[in-house]
Amino acid sequence: MKILIADDDPMSLLYLQDALQDWGYEVVAVPDGRSAQAILSGADAPMLAILDWMMPGMDGIDLCRMIRGNGNDSYTYVIMLTSRTETAFIVEAMTAGADDFVSKPFHVEELEVRVRAGKRICELEQQLRLRASHDALTGIYNRGAIIDLLQKALARQRRERAGIALVFADLDHFKRINDEYGHLAGDAVLCEVSRRMARMLRPYDSLGRYGGEELMVVLPACGDDGALEVAERIRKAVCGAPVATDFGALPVSVSIGVAVLAPGADATLNQLIQCADQALYAAKNGGRNRVVLAP
Ligand code: GH3
Ligand code: MG
Ligand code: MG
Repeated sequence: MKILIADDDPMSLLYLQDALQDWGYEVVAVPDGRSAQAILSGADAPMLAILDWMMPGMDGIDLCRMIRGNGNDSYTYVIMLTSRTETAFIVEAMTAGADDFVSKPFHVEELEVRVRAGKRICELEQQLRLRASHDALTGIYNRGAIIDLLQKALARQRRERAGIALVFADLDHFKRINDEYGHLAGDAVLCEVSRRMARMLRPYDSLGRYGGEELMVVLPACGDDGALEVAERIRKAVCGAPVATDFGALPVSVSIGVAVLAPGADATLNQLIQCADQALYAAKNGGRNRVVLAP
């Protein structure tokens, strides 16, 4: 696990870094609050930060308030370090958003267990976040998460004047699989279809489960041709071979509706979903196992 440490006292910083590295942590060390802020708001930011209270420029308390005010995508666990030990200071640090408080000079053993407690919270938070955003059966994004990603992609489409495509796929006659082979067979098919679809996507595309056997793909920076190509690739990958299950090899196919929003065009989230849904409906009516692009 990666830990950020910020302290303007070089000796103290070095001592802290050595101790944390001995305990097996990866350490990012910075000498002031501004550098800490830059790292914490960047990509792949450390989940745990040990901040000195007194630093030139932005101090530990300001930094703490900034971290809590950000509404960051992930939680940063903050341990405040200071030579002040009076209760009033502890209250001030924790009111500003610190999770824990260690006085300097610190006892190595005490700091070790406090960091370990912080690591436990970070790991739990990560697990919760994963469970809250991913579908328990298939492991792909759940409905809330994929809608959220679509919403963000739409905002980017407006800002950057790039295209965006929404692919809406529904398994064909899926109820028959459940009825003939049972729900466990149906579950196995859903999982394998998700895997096959995921393999056809670019790293920045997102796949989620919109509803029961309805899967959604968000394709940022994508036009008609690109979206149709991906959708067709998905369709072929799904029906390419029967799905091997404990109940036998089961043939499967999907019908797909595609809606594309051109750069500069305007549509709400619901309008885009409705367009893809109508195209999907047309694909079903057209005989299933096919792709239809919304007009
Ligand atoms: P169509 O080609 O028109 O889409 O037919 P269909 O049978 O796929 O559609 P229908 O809406 O009639 O049935 C969808 C079925 O999907 C019914 C529901 O029990 C099943 N289903 C939804 N979620 C799950 C799941 O998580 N596991 C299993 N096994 N089945 C599910
Ligand atoms: Mg279906
Ligand atoms: Mg359906």
